[in-house]
Amino acid sequence: MQRFQRWFVVAIVIAVAIASVTYVQGNARQQTDLQISEVAKKVKNNEVDKLVVDGDTVKVQYRDKSRPVQESRKEASSSLIEQLTQYGVTPEQRDAVKIEVFNGTNWLELFLSILSPLSILLFLGFMFMMFRNAQNANGNAMQFGRSKARMFNGENPTVTFGDVAGADEAKQELQEVVEFLKQPEKFIQLGARIPKGVLLIGSPGTGKTLLAKAVSGEAGVPFFSISGSEFVEMFVGVGASRVRDLFGEAKKHSPCIIFVDEIDAVGRSRGTGLGGGHDEREQTLNQILVEMDGFGTDTNVIVIAATNRPDVLDSALMRPGRFDRRVVLDRPDVRGREAILKVHTRGKPLAPEVDLGKLARATPGFVGADIENLVNEAAILAARRNKKLVTNDELLESVERVMMGPERKSRIITPSERRLTAYHEAGHAIVGHLMPNCDPIQKVTIIPRGMAGGYTLSLPVEDHHYVSRSKFVDDLSYALGGRVAEELALGEITTGASSDLQRVTEIARDMITRYGMSEKMAPMVYGQKQEMVFLGRDLGEQRDYSESVAMEIDREVQKLVLTAYQRTKDTLTQYRTTLDAVAEKLMEIETLDADSFRKFFDGGDKPFNPRAPMKAITDGTDDAAAPGATPAPMPA
Ligand code: ADP
Ligand code: MG
Ligand code: ZN
Repeated sequence: MQRFQRWFVVAIVIAVAIASVTYVQGNARQQTDLQISEVAKKVKNNEVDKLVVDGDTVKVQYRDKSRPVQESRKEASSSLIEQLTQYGVTPEQRDAVKIEVFNGTNWLELFLSILSPLSILLFLGFMFMMFRNAQNANGNAMQFGRSKARMFNGENPTVTFGDVAGADEAKQELQEVVEFLKQPEKFIQLGARIPKGVLLIGSPGTGKTLLAKAVSGEAGVPFFSISGSEFVEMFVGVGASRVRDLFGEAKKHSPCIIFVDEIDAVGRSRGTGLGGGHDEREQTLNQILVEMDGFGTDTNVIVIAATNRPDVLDSALMRPGRFDRRVVLDRPDVRGREAILKVHTRGKPLAPEVDLGKLARATPGFVGADIENLVNEAAILAARRNKKLVTNDELLESVERVMMGPERKSRIITPSERRLTAYHEAGHAIVGHLMPNCDPIQKVTIIPRGMAGGYTLSLPVEDHHYVSRSKFVDDLSYALGGRVAEELALGEITTGASSDLQRVTEIARDMITRYGMSEKMAPMVYGQKQEMVFLGRDLGEQRDYSESVAMEIDREVQKLVLTAYQRTKDTLTQYRTTLDAVAEKLMEIETLDADSFRKFFDGGDKPFNPRAPMKAITDGTDDAAAPGATPAPMPA
């Protein structure tokens, strides 16, 4: 819109300038040398040789050729002769003067007479350009009600299911949609009700957009893509009319797909106060529902929508006949990640020793977008190092980069801080190594990265879907290792452990209130999360237990943490010499990899069986919901 206004102002200014030039020119010509009455007098005195009439201008040439030609103006309404007669010029006197009526080209006149219409033309031209410009700039800015959807005609598909790795269940679900779009008759003949809407649900970067494009690529049908936020403009009613326009357009191209990305921008629950009771949004949403209800069995338009906040979506969207298909895109598991790695390393020169399976294991919690980013970072690093191949070094470094932001070698660390960090990380690593259910230590470093002063990386052998009580208990000790080491070695505790303590608190509370892992309390869930805890978000808790149960919970949580603390302290006291040695080594060389770290222990292996079989205690937890299920590196 600003563009529109700017053009408008420019056009007006130019038009005004041209008009005023014309006006001034016109006025200048009004300044004449003689009044017509004076001309008459001079004619009567027989001073005049010739009068040249050109329009209303009268040029007076005198008999005395030394006198300059003077100019006068006659009135436009009557002829020069009439006017002279009026001023008492007799026919004889008049005949003594040559009168020439000149209708030829007066160049100035001509120019000006062209210029005025020209300025109008110019103005119109500007208007036209401005309209066109505004339209090109924002799709159809001058037609607010038109949808801004981009259409891809599906004839040369750029994305197919082959480009989407991992997400096998999701692809299977969508395969049906593809078949329907390819051969609608087959389904209609059997009286099958065709899905109208498919809702893709998943964390950002899990490939929702990619999958929707793949569906259209597979089916070879047109694909209208629009983002939920594009429906919403500053004017009420625009969204609704855009929806009408979009669906109308889509029906013309049926069979086809409408893809509404980030539908939560319009599809938020109405009347919750969440995101406001926004009138405009409500109207837009209603219009989408109306259009979807209006689909006949022969419409063959399928709406695919994507969101990462299904918990805030209006329940009306989910009703049968609307988005009744729901496809959940999970964070990929280890095999999924390996497959995605394969897709994105396609065509990139990898060193032969690179093991994608191992890399997949080192990237728990990564989504497709992270993996794409990781591979790209590695390629950039390799190029910067003038290598011909991307090696393990670059890939592993990029894992950490994506996870925690780039290494900050430049941060100035005082020697005492360095010592503190070394002990802290050594503490984590040693406890993590000794606890039977912790994941093997992959790397210990005191090089700061992102927000962390140093970190210990543990590499899960496989993704955990179920987490046992003993693993939680060991993880508590692992998380407390840093703080305990500080206390033992430096006789002082610092704020360095605050994020560890946060984690400890979370694990312990969840064990008691969500997973029923208390010895004393009934195995049930205490407190209802207000929003569906779907993707790790919740908005607060509804307390559904009494004050005495609350006290009981607190006591149980405290007991868990204190027990873990004591266990950690005992362990590190027992391994005090190892703690000193590891810390010294860290201060010396900053980073220890898995092998050099294991050398600090007799025999080089965990004293306990590191692969103790896990007991499945919790049912149906997903990655996001189970803390410790995706063991993040342990920040200092
Ligand atoms: P979302 O829409 O869920 O936020 P996108 O579809 O935009 O995520 O994914 C971003 C990028 O991540 C994609 O362009 C793709 O390169 C990569 N990606 C995500 N998931 C996958 C997957 N399953 N297989 C291959 N690449 C993926
Ligand atoms: Mg997306
Ligand atoms: Zn720590």
